[in-house]
Amino acid sequence: MLRITGGKVYDPANGVDGVVKDICIADGRIVDQAEGGRPIDATGMIVLPGGVDVHTHVAGGALNFARGLVPENQRAARKFLHTPELRSGLGGMTPTTFATGYLYAGMGWTTVNEAAVPILSARHTHEELHDIPIVDKTSLVLMGNNEFVLDLLEAGDAERAQHIVAWLIWAAKAYGVKAVNPGGVAAWKWGKDAKTLSEPIEGYSRVTPAMMISNLAQIVDALGLPHPLHLHCNNLGVPGNVDTTIETTNVLEGRRAHLAHLQFHAYGGEDWSTMRSESARLAEHFNRQKNLTADAGAVLFGDAVTITADGPWQHLLHELTGRKWGNLDVENETGCGIVPYVYKDRNLVNAVQWAVGLELLLLIDDPWRIFLTTDHPNGGCFWRYPEIIRLLMDVEFRKAEVKKLPAKAQERIVLGDLDRQYTLSEIVIITSAGPARSLGLTQKGHLGVGADADVAIYPEKPDDGLLFTYPRYVIKGGQIVVEEGEVRAVTEGREFIVHPECDETIEEYLRPLFEKVYTISFENYPVDLERLRRPEVRATGARR
Ligand SMILES: [Zn+2]
Repeated sequence: MLRITGGKVYDPANGVDGVVKDICIADGRIVDQAEGGRPIDATGMIVLPGGVDVHTHVAGGALNFARGLVPENQRAARKFLHTPELRSGLGGMTPTTFATGYLYAGMGWTTVNEAAVPILSARHTHEELHDIPIVDKTSLVLMGNNEFVLDLLEAGDAERAQHIVAWLIWAAKAYGVKAVNPGGVAAWKWGKDAKTLSEPIEGYSRVTPAMMISNLAQIVDALGLPHPLHLHCNNLGVPGNVDTTIETTNVLEGRRAHLAHLQFHAYGGEDWSTMRSESARLAEHFNRQKNLTADAGAVLFGDAVTITADGPWQHLLHELTGRKWGNLDVENETGCGIVPYVYKDRNLVNAVQWAVGLELLLLIDDPWRIFLTTDHPNGGCFWRYPEIIRLLMDVEFRKAEVKKLPAKAQERIVLGDLDRQYTLSEIVIITSAGPARSLGLTQKGHLGVGADADVAIYPEKPDDGLLFTYPRYVIKGGQIVVEEGEVRAVTEGREFIVHPECDETIEEYLRPLFEKVYTISFENYPVDLERLRRPEVRATGARR
């Protein structure tokens, strides 16, 4: 039992905005009273629900591919030495599994969503997720280019497609559905892409990216999944792509969806020399579309490594930069590309990208619908979130940073004109309460009675001026795991998974098809529930 006293509590989900009050904890949850609980003096500190990362890449084949392709990053990374309590590991751009847990918890984040899992490598992904300590986890399975689903939509059999999706979610022991460049990654296996939403996907005569998007969104809703379709739109990263992004939202026709790393989808201009920010136009449109949430995918200057299922985009990035490139075609499901990258403030394109992420966070008026991410490690590493929080909260600092950009870049952005400053309560919404709500994790992102006791306590006025870098305490599931910024106790995180209702006879359809087109045994494909060490299963019913 714990009793946190004297701290200023920020709990926007429950309308608490900087009120000094006690927070009591018993049996891993927030309770009304905890008589005789160990007191934690939080005087002079702020008390917040633990952070929730709605879109990050921390486990699975793509991460190991990146670690292997860029050994120079690994050698230069921060070292975590073995202690009686902690495992050794590497920080840096693609931290190793144990270090990932230490770094997230060490910043006050207690739940993460691994946003891209091919079913074919789900087993390995869960093994790595298990090795990420402390934080709770969810994962999204890649479905936007799944050829079983594409073939069924081509044949006009959306009903069977729904059963296949349900079966695949449970096979992958996933929490939700992600679609990356729908149709484009399937086309990439023929060296093509899907640049328009309305033309048939390469190899098909009927099914288009628009059909894939609207059908998947509809299926996710019909299956009653807690998180909406998680969408990486077509034409990521290229000038003029804002039109595709807006067209994508129109294709959804009011169905719920989460738009991933919106920064990479908000550009105007005809080519790289004329690329400019279109965040004002996109934010204005987004503000009216109440069915949508998004995460920022903000960019920070410095080193990064790009990891995405968007194979054609990665090839283009390789051609643009001349940097090394790795590609994986994941059988009938998806793809994967890796390219190391450096965001430079003197580079016009990078300067626009840096501004656009912040602009979207400032121009989207409802903090409950836009969340803080860097699409780690694509736009920057998650452990640099405090730098973005400072830029959002301190307008003078931000404007001074804008003035350092090349004059040409300043003409193509609107960031210098924006005066909004985030309040601490709004920061809690975009880093915890909002993502928890979007993920449908009702026990996360708040400090009301019954919530998981995931609490971060920071000095109100940190010595270095940077909030969130140095938690005085982090409590995970009622246990103190971080003290004075150091990991003191290592707990096992849980994994939330969803079991959607599905016609079990779908296996009779799937098995012979699978044996015809996949290179592994059908028996080796689904992940057994027993392989997950601390699963928490939520069953959902289908409606149609
Ligand atoms: Zn991503």
